[in-house]
Amino acid sequence: MTQKAEFDQRVKQALDNPQLRRNFRVTMDGLMEKRDKAFPDKAFLEELRTIGANIRANALARQPELLEQLEANCTRNGIQVHWAETIEQANRIVLDIMERHHATRMIKGKSMVSEEMQMNHFLEAKGKSCVESDLGEYIIQLDNEAPSHIIAPAIHKSKQEVARLFKAKHPDIPYSEDIDTLTRSARQILRRKFHDAEIGLSGVNFAVAETGTLCLVENEGNGRLCTTVPPVHIAVTGIEKVVEKLADVPPLLKLLTRSATGQHITTYFNMISSPRKPGERDGPKEVHLVLLDNQRSRIYGDSELFDSLRCIRCGACMNHCPVYTRIGGHAYGPPIPGPIGSVIEPQKFGLENFGVLATASTLCGACGEACPVRIPLPKLLHRLRYEQVREDRTGATIGQGSQRSGKEALIWKLWSWIHATPLVYRSATRLASLFRNRIPNRIGPWSQVRTTPRIAPKSLHQLAREEGFKHE
Ligand code: SF4
Repeated sequence: MTQKAEFDQRVKQALDNPQLRRNFRVTMDGLMEKRDKAFPDKAFLEELRTIGANIRANALARQPELLEQLEANCTRNGIQVHWAETIEQANRIVLDIMERHHATRMIKGKSMVSEEMQMNHFLEAKGKSCVESDLGEYIIQLDNEAPSHIIAPAIHKSKQEVARLFKAKHPDIPYSEDIDTLTRSARQILRRKFHDAEIGLSGVNFAVAETGTLCLVENEGNGRLCTTVPPVHIAVTGIEKVVEKLADVPPLLKLLTRSATGQHITTYFNMISSPRKPGERDGPKEVHLVLLDNQRSRIYGDSELFDSLRCIRCGACMNHCPVYTRIGGHAYGPPIPGPIGSVIEPQKFGLENFGVLATASTLCGACGEACPVRIPLPKLLHRLRYEQVREDRTGATIGQGSQRSGKEALIWKLWSWIHATPLVYRSATRLASLFRNRIPNRIGPWSQVRTTPRIAPKSLHQLAREEGFKHE
């Protein structure tokens, strides 16, 4: 099956599920409203967006140098830094650390990079257990699903669905549809897992080069438990998360939390600068930082697509996207859905696998307007559409021209010849007007859900002549 046929099938499944559409509609409306309320002063919002965009652009412009500085300062602080060019290497690094410690149990905080690495599957195949501790991630892990939103991974599930899932997976827990009761049950189950885990894993929101500090934003406290209770903490992140200095963090944090959930600040904000020091009573004895490339350097090499690396993963572009709101995250396929996923994931996993995602947009521009770091998402989606059909196969993205069809290329060549040859063009328009009533209403799948435009009885040239224009 082609990637387009697979995508169409996933979209159809989503559109045929009224419960799923309701869940997304209600939640996305709520998140948009909260973001709007969090920024009552629009001038302040625009100013902050400019500051955020500049901070991220500056960090990217100096990325090679900042990464070296980050490594040097982390190492000085006692954090062990590992570089991974591919997801296979990153998984292998995590596995090696676990094996060195004879560890079999990992407790995980939320990490989209670990989703990108498909780390749970990799480690489970090696006999390790990985338990998600973010409530949303825990729910979808119970149901063997992938996240459908980067900050609200189980948003596609109603509370009734979660209640039934808890009952099926934990029969000893009394059935309840009350959210507080469900949360309490998950907390009780997970508390033991935190205690027993030999390894805690987390993501990173910002990695500060100046001080070698890893910043982690979260609301549930599970991130703090993952990074402090087990004796070894592993942080995994993409290389683009580096920022220059600590002073860069507050503006980005303001943008991130307000854009994501409408909060002025999250309940927890963790700054990890070293393992436990002598005399300290808690904290991990070892901290590792895994810096993953996985095509980010390739994206970095393209002066236009480079902008997509500014993303701070707030999810606002998804919440505002009319396509995402209707089809939800699973329809997209790769770990990051929505507009930013449609830009980043085809670049990471190849246009031949996910290039079709660039068409999952109306190009209405809402994503670009919502983005707190001013990523020109519609422009980048447009560029990826072009990359898929361009003839030559050189350039920065993987799989240029992968969607180019011989039939389509021939049609456009014919179109170009007709329009470049006046005699042929005039004859073709005359013939089309003459036989306009013979043209069928349905022309392929495009017209199944749209009204096919009718050809005018007279061409513009003809009308102009009739009106007496001499040089029409
Ligand atoms: S592209 Fe912008 S709006 Fe979308 S997740 Fe990234 S930072 Fe947020």
